[in-house]
Amino acid sequence: MPGCGRVATEVASEIGRGAKVKGMPMRVVLPNPRGFCAGVRMAVDVIDQVLELFPGEAVYCYHEIVHNKHVVGRFSGKGVVFVESLDEVPLGGIVVFSAHGISPAVRQHAASRNLRTIDATCPLVTKVHAEAIRYARQGYQILLVGHKNHQEVVGTFGEAPDATQVVESPEDIPHLQIRDDRKLVYLTQTTLSTDDAEVVIGALKKAFPHIKSPPSSDICYATTNRQVAVRQLGPSCDITLVVGSKNSSNSVRLTEISQNVGTPAYLIDDASEINWSWFPRGDERVLLTAGASAPEDLVAGVCRALLAKFGGDIEVAQVVEESVEFAAPGGLRKAMIERGIDPQSRRFIVEAPSISRELYGAVPLTVGATK
Ligand code: SF4
Repeated sequence: MPGCGRVATEVASEIGRGAKVKGMPMRVVLPNPRGFCAGVRMAVDVIDQVLELFPGEAVYCYHEIVHNKHVVGRFSGKGVVFVESLDEVPLGGIVVFSAHGISPAVRQHAASRNLRTIDATCPLVTKVHAEAIRYARQGYQILLVGHKNHQEVVGTFGEAPDATQVVESPEDIPHLQIRDDRKLVYLTQTTLSTDDAEVVIGALKKAFPHIKSPPSSDICYATTNRQVAVRQLGPSCDITLVVGSKNSSNSVRLTEISQNVGTPAYLIDDASEINWSWFPRGDERVLLTAGASAPEDLVAGVCRALLAKFGGDIEVAQVVEESVEFAAPGGLRKAMIERGIDPQSRRFIVEAPSISRELYGAVPLTVGATK
């Protein structure tokens, strides 16, 4: 992931690589991958570009663009208004749909208010929506494994509400209403813990041996890879710090995965939430990772704070290579064309000054490939 090694280098040179205050040095292990995934980069880039495309106009975002309080706070500071109901958007206003996806009912509501919409739903969420639509059309009942109130699950459920039931845990299985156990398929939320999902899916397969699986895992590559890194590196560390917000499903899941492998884990939004009592010796080996919606500068801030306090060293652990990028959504491309901007010209925005560069510093954006 671009920028990952850079933080280690920058922080190490700032603090003094290997600097030591007392006793044995603290070791901060930075796994790759961590932090921003392709879907989050795309969503952040969408808002950046919408702000550039519509200067002077109010830009609304339906729900938090991604589940991170700093990302939301930074865009609020740029004038983006986050709303929980489309009724809060003036008729004809500009609204961006968040990365978590929306149900058709929300799309219809937007149309009824004549809103100008730009959909920043992650394509991997859209893939699950498409599966739900397809299986419902084929007469399947869908068992959607996920967290009932999560926006992504609400959106996917809305694609086929009459055919879908949400399963949060094996305890839900006896309460399911099944018409024909040969016409059943399970789908999942993209950001589940692979450990937890395995338990629920195993229980579903036991209860319904003919249940169909999705064509490929619905748990996305970014969720899976960040969890693989924690599962692999956690056992050799004393403590895991996950940078991310409390409402970020994949960030919470990273703390759970660490706990599952026996390493205590804490979820923090930024360095100000570090509790120094977590480090009684000061020479701990600390796994420092970040959820898919957490900006890299916050990881750097935590790293700096730890090394400034205890001295120590940084180790970068390359676990999985990632090279996923998503194209800008159709609504954004259309808005560009209407303004005489060639969407292809926005293919690489790394060199262009942008709000994201200003906000995220060490995280060059590689999103914006448009077809
Ligand atoms: S975590 Fe996965 S599904 Fe969610 S935005 Fe990132 S890539 Fe997309």
